[in-house]
Amino acid sequence: MTLTEKILARASGKAQVKAGDNVWVKADTLMTHDVCGPGTIGVFKREFGEDAKVWDNKRIVIIPDHYIFTADSRSNRNVDILREFVKEQGIEYFYDVIDDPDGKWVFNPSQGLLKKQYGSQYAGVCHTALAQKGHTRPGEVLFGTDSHTCMAGAFNQFATGIGNTDAGFVMGTGKLLIKVPETMHFRLEGALQPGVMAKDIILHIIGEIGFDGATYRAMQFDGEGARSLSVDDRMTVANMAIEAGGKNGIFEFDEKTEAYVKYRTGLNGTPSDYLPVERDAQETFFSEHVIDLSQLEPTVACHPDPGNRRLAKELSDMDLDRAYIGSCTGGKTSDFLAFAEVIRGKSVTIDTFGVPATPEIVDELKTTDWDGKSVWQIMTDAGVQMTENAGCSACLGGPVDTFGRMNKPLKCISATNRNFPGRMGHKESQVFLASPATVAASALTGKVTDPRDL
Ligand code: SF4
Repeated sequence: MTLTEKILARASGKAQVKAGDNVWVKADTLMTHDVCGPGTIGVFKREFGEDAKVWDNKRIVIIPDHYIFTADSRSNRNVDILREFVKEQGIEYFYDVIDDPDGKWVFNPSQGLLKKQYGSQYAGVCHTALAQKGHTRPGEVLFGTDSHTCMAGAFNQFATGIGNTDAGFVMGTGKLLIKVPETMHFRLEGALQPGVMAKDIILHIIGEIGFDGATYRAMQFDGEGARSLSVDDRMTVANMAIEAGGKNGIFEFDEKTEAYVKYRTGLNGTPSDYLPVERDAQETFFSEHVIDLSQLEPTVACHPDPGNRRLAKELSDMDLDRAYIGSCTGGKTSDFLAFAEVIRGKSVTIDTFGVPATPEIVDELKTTDWDGKSVWQIMTDAGVQMTENAGCSACLGGPVDTFGRMNKPLKCISATNRNFPGRMGHKESQVFLASPATVAASALTGKVTDPRDL
């Protein structure tokens, strides 16, 4: 069996499963957020009754992160709906925007968009927060009401996005009927060259197979090249499995996974027992792909889809209006460090927005010192508009007052993960996906720029 099949076999109580089998899978964790949470709660109450109790209030994780820093009152209200449900159900893991369990969330636009407005429990973008708060455990099953839930595959977990109806069912029963996906095997060989990042790996792969090339399939990443990647890098790659239509992305378990999970579960007091899955001698793959990381170059996915691949150096004539670094994919500390290395001591020439994925990342950037200056300061000195309000922000557009949202038909180079029309705001705006280093180089020149040229 493949890694994915092994997890699904265990979670369905079977010795063996194969691609195409339909099996009832037990969930270890269900995650939802402010956009889909209210809908999921509605389905749960409609189907199980107003007074029904969730299947396990220690296995549901609720993370408001999407439409938070906006004056839109209906978006603010969504966070309050989550808080009321958490109280009613005694849900243990709720990363609220405010500290007062009886309060109401109201964003105050008069304080501007840059200064933090959240309390001490707020955790930022759900996928990054799940990992940082110790909810991503190897060998387990994670369902989330968000397509990029697949990011947790970096931790040798079966993690996949589900809709509100399925999530309402999981909330009531703790299980879900899953068709075992076929597995596409990506063996990563060699190591990345300077200036080339994990984002370039996954943009290369999606360009190779197309934005629907892995539809309802598992994408298994392994080999010596996969082992050479940091945990953050693996998160970037697994995150974008869905951009090829993948059901999930999954990495092998190794000492890097173990160290990360041990540290994070210890820090947060989240359950630390787990059983990873290892590769079998007998694996049946739908297809096999070998990627030599040393041959990859800075890559861009052009408007209008993540499979529209070009090399950054082929696009050097293209003028840009804006640059953006942030999101679950591209808003980690390591992403900002790669960005800051390129822009350090220079100035951006186009509007450039920086949105750390989580408050912890905000703190890390403010306390990481490079020759007497924080990385945060290096970013702002270069002209990057950095917000402390960690979250999804303009990655998916959001209400019109969202920080970094494109309210006009602009061209933006972005470290985010999706670029279908209208994704970051205006329906005629265009998004070009790239690594943090390529976004930084392009922010300096105002044109798509291979970071190795700087
Ligand atoms: S940062 Fe973007 S891709 Fe990630 S969860 Fe938020 S909206 Fe989705």
